[in-house]
Amino acid sequence: MPPGAPPNTTVVVPDGRPLDQVLVDATDVAVVAHPDDLELLLGTVVATCAADAERSLVGIVCTDGAGSVGVDGAPTGSQELAALRATEQRAAAELGGHTVLMLGHSSATMLDPARRSAVVDDLVAVMGSCRPATVHTHALVDRHATHVAVALLTIDTVRALPSTTPPPTSLLGIEGWSSLDWLADSDLVELPGRNDDLTIRMARCFTSQLTHKRYDLAMQGRWRANATFRHHDAPDDVAELALALDMTPLLADPDLAPAEFLGTVTARARRTVAEQVSTLTHHHT
Ligand SMILES: [Zn+2]
Repeated sequence: MPPGAPPNTTVVVPDGRPLDQVLVDATDVAVVAHPDDLELLLGTVVATCAADAERSLVGIVCTDGAGSVGVDGAPTGSQELAALRATEQRAAAELGGHTVLMLGHSSATMLDPARRSAVVDDLVAVMGSCRPATVHTHALVDRHATHVAVALLTIDTVRALPSTTPPPTSLLGIEGWSSLDWLADSDLVELPGRNDDLTIRMARCFTSQLTHKRYDLAMQGRWRANATFRHHDAPDDVAELALALDMTPLLADPDLAPAEFLGTVTARARRTVAEQVSTLTHHHT
């Protein structure tokens, strides 16, 4: 086990550098639920980091993915399915050039607050040696419970980092099983991608997942829709545009409860649409 990784972690470092050095140099750290979330949900960021010598991404995948819909020969819940998904994750990391740590937990561990908090220590040990500017995880408004659980785990982790570690400057929640375009602009961060060839090739590594659901086409469609519809008065200048919920207020205020934060965010979204209708209703007077 390389120094810096919790026990039972599978580590993929495509450029072959020592893990402790990779962790220190990371500008972006992403904590996600499943083997494929890095590429299918955060693909534009992976591609951007791959093209920028100043940025490098370390992805931490919490579960082994054995709870997904199985494929022929590797039924749901099986070790074969977990091994297959790890192989797919490794291939995608080799394409994107990003380091991946697969912690190998079950989804049940993520969904249980008591067992999940034990994982925080492992994550603090990994991220305590990182100095990322940005931490990415799932958005708290995701429809997939395991994604939301991992977002809560990540929030607990960044709040538990030792004071000797320079804190990240932003905490972003990526689009997943929910689109984020209904949120107020001030709560969103745009993550443009200019290399859809790479994102498509990475997505297609996950053949076990694409048999039953075309996540690759779905994410491409969403990113292209964002790129087109988001700025109706400007020509599309990027091929793909992912959106993220800006969850930095949870980093800045360690006492802010995630549910309270969501209340503020959803109230802002409601006010934005109500104000537009109100303005248009009364403008003629
Ligand atoms: Zn996922």
